[in-house]
Amino acid sequence: MSELAYPYEAPASQALFDRAAAVTPGGVNSPVRAFGAVGGTPRFMVSGSGPYLTDADGREYVDLVCSWGPMILGHAHPEVIAAVQEAVARGTSFGTPAEGEVALAEAMVERVAPLEEVRLVSSGTEATMSAIRLARGFTRRTKVIKFAGCYHGHVDSLLAAAGSGVATFALPDTPGVTGAQASDTIVLPYNDLEAVHAAFAAHPGEIACVITEASPGNMGVVPPLPGFNQGLKEACAANGALFVSDEVMTGFRTSRAGWYGVEGVVPDLMTFGKVMGGGFPAAAFGGRADVMAHLAPAGPVYQAGTLSGNPVATAAGLAQLRLLDDAAYEKVDAVSAQIQSLVTEALGKEGVAHTLQTASNMFSVFFTDRPVRNYEDAKAQESFRFTAFFHSLLSNGVYLPPSSFESWFVSAAHDERAVQRIADALPAAARAAAEATA
Ligand SMILES: *Cc1c(COP(=O)(O)O)cnc(C)c1O
Repeated sequence: MSELAYPYEAPASQALFDRAAAVTPGGVNSPVRAFGAVGGTPRFMVSGSGPYLTDADGREYVDLVCSWGPMILGHAHPEVIAAVQEAVARGTSFGTPAEGEVALAEAMVERVAPLEEVRLVSSGTEATMSAIRLARGFTRRTKVIKFAGCYHGHVDSLLAAAGSGVATFALPDTPGVTGAQASDTIVLPYNDLEAVHAAFAAHPGEIACVITEASPGNMGVVPPLPGFNQGLKEACAANGALFVSDEVMTGFRTSRAGWYGVEGVVPDLMTFGKVMGGGFPAAAFGGRADVMAHLAPAGPVYQAGTLSGNPVATAAGLAQLRLLDDAAYEKVDAVSAQIQSLVTEALGKEGVAHTLQTASNMFSVFFTDRPVRNYEDAKAQESFRFTAFFHSLLSNGVYLPPSSFESWFVSAAHDERAVQRIADALPAAARAAAEATA
């Protein structure tokens, strides 16, 4: 890497990072935030407004991470903030049922047809963990099929060959996950239905469920090939297993009804998080009413949470969902398309081999000229070019995910000024990518 890799110092962020490292492992509370894959000083943000974030050194960035998806209306949307303030003033947690959680569940069920019943939790990890437990309890089977490069949160049994931070740091597996937990997980290549059929044939009557990202975004954006999700659904139905579609990232983002709204394949169970929490810890799992009826207190499969359905989080989520009408999605889709074409144009001009992949308004750039259909393909990219590209954009006020294995996210607040800042920063970044050496 050249000495120009980190053209801007960030002294205030660096001081905070040093303080953080003394009291927190690696200085962060979620690994990818540490900039481990790209190097340099992670930016400590102090405020967000619309499409912008401002760091501790007072520098403003166009945000293409959007808190990894949730901030689909931009930061500090006035109506979401007002709903939160109104909720906070009424008290922050009751430990009883309250109307807000009913309203949020109703709004979700109304938008996503296969979602007959829903249970609220506090993180996407909890949602997938609980969905897996429910699938096992319902089917009375133990094994789970997942796909390499798909990330479903840090659930023990689902960390095998996971995407996101696990991909970023190329962790082969995670100490602390037992052999028993790992051995109940069958990891298959994504977009490979033959492998799925073979796994069902090799483990008759043992597979509780197949879990997949509805359209993966945690190894970069790798959409399902036509017929893949439908094939999973049919393989599950034919073998008495449940089809679990993880929409934590895509839910209420890729359309009004998430990826289900794009493709229309009906899962048995679904998981949600990110957008539905409006920037607060709220997530959910749900689906077929006859399956959800197995959940305590209606049924025997235990699941609970002190802060589940928290009144402030549900107020934020509900406010955000109410604002997400067709016009909002049109806006997000349009600005996403605009940025996508700016990126391909800039990289094309510099002759940088790249493949831009999309799933509705989610997209990412792989530094390879071959289509990326699975995790192996994703790992074959020239990630060193991303590092140079990333730091050039960062120094010119554009904040990308600090890893080439992540989706980029835009919001309805990304306006002409924000897009222009990206357009102005791209030529130098493309040049940096072209000149980068391994
Ligand atoms: C983010 C994510 C999760 C985990 O959600 P957390 O709230 O971070 O626990 C699970 N599945 C997918 C597809 C995700 O993108």
